[in-house]
Amino acid sequence: MHACRKFPSYLGNLHRRSLWDIYWSEAAEVYRQGPSACRGCRLYAVCRGCLAVIATHGLNPFEDRDPFCPGPVS
Ligand code: SF4
Repeated sequence: MHACRKFPSYLGNLHRRSLWDIYWSEAAEVYRQGPSACRGCRLYAVCRGCLAVIATHGLNPFEDRDPFCPGPVS
């Protein structure tokens, strides 16, 4: 399983771990939290950008903001 099919984001193998364990793993939670650059944005709960877009632009999906973000909303 990957967090997203659009970029390499391996979480685990369903032949060796249950879906429950993989879905609720610490690694999966990191993907769900989105990039740290989005923290504090008023749209964080519904947006967090697109991690695949961030990664395919050569940026860090856990830190950098989506390059198509209109700008953080405070
Ligand atoms: S609007 Fe921009 S800063 Fe705010 S959550 Fe979305 S991508 Fe992140």
